[in-house]
Amino acid sequence: MNKAFVREPDSDASVRCPRCGNLATEIGRGPLDLHILPEHRRRLGDSAWCCGNVRCDVVYFDVFDQSVCVEDLRTEVYPYCATAPICACFGLTLDDIEQDIREGQPVRIRELLKQSQTADAACRALALNGECCAKEVQRVYLKLRGL
Ligand SMILES: [Zn+2]
Repeated sequence: MNKAFVREPDSDASVRCPRCGNLATEIGRGPLDLHILPEHRRRLGDSAWCCGNVRCDVVYFDVFDQSVCVEDLRTEVYPYCATAPICACFGLTLDDIEQDIREGQPVRIRELLKQSQTADAACRALALNGECCAKEVQRVYLKLRGL
């Protein structure tokens, strides 16, 4: 195949969401199969990009101008839906984080961070963006504590 026809993202040129320009993360078929409604799933191949911007309608897209939006997903998911689990693997929610803060001990969060290091964590296959939620959980925790 002629290389000129393949818009390959090289390591310096990052891929951005066609709608909002957010820096996207590459995603495998696990999350795509799991989260996209079957009738919309065929729009994308075995890998795509995840926008990750909660204010943008586009969830997944490829470099051939195909995209999947929030309403094309099977269920309501975090961060588009604040009450959906933040952690795709173990189900930690915003509620759990708030409870930790109320109780003054991040017990649930610590437990999650421990679990996220085990083989039971399957973020690459389950998470909407294919990434571990640990960073997001810590960000939300700090934000809610006003730090
Ligand atoms: Zn976007």
